[in-house]
Amino acid sequence: MTFTAPATTTDTPEARAYNRTKRRLMIADLVLNFVFLIVLLATGWNGTLRDWALSLSNQGYSLAVFYYVVMLLVLSKAIGFGLDYYGFRLEHQYQLSNQKTKSWAWDEVKGFLIGLVIATILVEIIYNVIRMTPSHWWIVVWVIYNALAIFFAQIAPVVLFPLFYKFKPLENDELTQRLIKLSERAGTRVRGVYEWQLSEKSKKANAALAGLGATRRIILADTLLENFTPDEIEAVLAHELGHHVHKHIFKSIVMQIGLSLIGFWIVARALDYAVERGVFLYMHDFASVPLLVLLTTVMSFLLMPVMNAYSRMKEREADRYSLKSIREVEPFISSMNKLAEQNLAERSPSRFVEIWFHSHPPVSKRIAAAEAWAASHPRA
Ligand SMILES: [Zn+2]
Repeated sequence: MTFTAPATTTDTPEARAYNRTKRRLMIADLVLNFVFLIVLLATGWNGTLRDWALSLSNQGYSLAVFYYVVMLLVLSKAIGFGLDYYGFRLEHQYQLSNQKTKSWAWDEVKGFLIGLVIATILVEIIYNVIRMTPSHWWIVVWVIYNALAIFFAQIAPVVLFPLFYKFKPLENDELTQRLIKLSERAGTRVRGVYEWQLSEKSKKANAALAGLGATRRIILADTLLENFTPDEIEAVLAHELGHHVHKHIFKSIVMQIGLSLIGFWIVARALDYAVERGVFLYMHDFASVPLLVLLTTVMSFLLMPVMNAYSRMKEREADRYSLKSIREVEPFISSMNKLAEQNLAERSPSRFVEIWFHSHPPVSKRIAAAEAWAASHPRA
């Protein structure tokens, strides 16, 4: 069978412009946050806000920490709001979104509140632990942080995702049968396949393996189910199963546990130093929150290429699993082409862009790898 693919290695000017703008938005957001934190620390406004929080709470420590987190998040949201709105408009400009402004605004509110809850939990824990054990706080916080991260990953598909999207078990007998066969071949059993009603908000297609333990599931966007043939959907499913077979979620958790230990240690050393130099009054002076956020932001930014390289490696592994399990290369390639087209993805970004920003290998490389696989695995 001959397979005629559309041009798979070149990007349309539209795709290039869309991705470039999106990347610039992301960098602008990062720079804005960075400047905000530097200004707070350099002007001493972080201390002013702490004094306000303390007087608002009548000197109650935990309540003051909460007020401080609220003030920081409100300020940061107000500063970044223009960029957030621009990002929403950009999706419309390229006909990638169906979402109405009101629905977007409501999502923003929900996102802000969830962020506030998570930030409050984290900052309260950090500063109350520092107050109890100023020299070993980072080890205690490291343990609690990872336990919380695992807990949130577990509840996310059942508690957080449904706040933004509707999900329902996949109602497609043929696909369900195929999936069962695929899972059996993978020697594994996934806890469920769900249809993700993404079309209410976006025209993009997506699929993911989410959750942990009892909440682990494969989710397939309705936008994907609509536009992809059963063979292509099977290829996508097999890729997601590949993540499952190769225990990618477990490996990511182990990596995060290791990296966060180093991260908390660095933050603790920086805080010690700042307190010794008299920048903060004492270890549990929560005026240091902006410093902690700044350090975390810088570390995450520097780690981006490493994390993305690791992610691309896992994606390649999942792709290979998909090919091995289906033993057909055409549906895989056509699903890649459809995904790139529907999502206006860059098929061939520059090497620099790939290294810094791409969690997945570019479509051109994924297709090339699939063709190479097919060449070395001729069908009988
Ligand atoms: Zn993947």
